[in-house]
Amino acid sequence: MTKVLLFSVLLIMIVCCVVQNDDVEVAVEVTKGGKVVKSDKEWKEQLSKMQYKVTRKKGTERAFSGEYNKCYDKGDYHCICCDAKLFSSDAKFDSGTGWPSYFQPYSKEAITEAADNSLFAKRVEVLCSKCDAHLGHVFNDGPAPTGLRYCINSVSLNFYKSK
Ligand SMILES: [Zn+2]
Repeated sequence: MTKVLLFSVLLIMIVCCVVQNDDVEVAVEVTKGGKVVKSDKEWKEQLSKMQYKVTRKKGTERAFSGEYNKCYDKGDYHCICCDAKLFSSDAKFDSGTGWPSYFQPYSKEAITEAADNSLFAKRVEVLCSKCDAHLGHVFNDGPAPTGLRYCINSVSLNFYKSK
């Protein structure tokens, strides 16, 4: 009798676990500690083909092709995926590389850096802290005051011009 009861309880627990897992998969947007988490399908629906390729699949737009490469208006650059504020026009400079370049992010917390050893090169990848969107890379050949060059894809960004 006890065995049967124990088995029943175990079965209920297993069923509960399965149902819980299903819930996570179905959820449209899961926010964990301020993070924006969406499924691949949802990102595909929200973003253009190029935006998706760069931000979710770590792609790179062609040099000099991005709309913000030569943009020097005053304003803020936000993440195309989750709208987090990432860079300010105050830190933008013309690097001549063909990609929007900044000597610092809007805040230290706004971006996350990760080692990227693809393409046989040691680079530091730059990601949006809120949604893990791939933004570009950071190099040590930038101007003062930081000496850093955040080389960012235009398609990862959305510009809000100051009024
Ligand atoms: Zn983001």
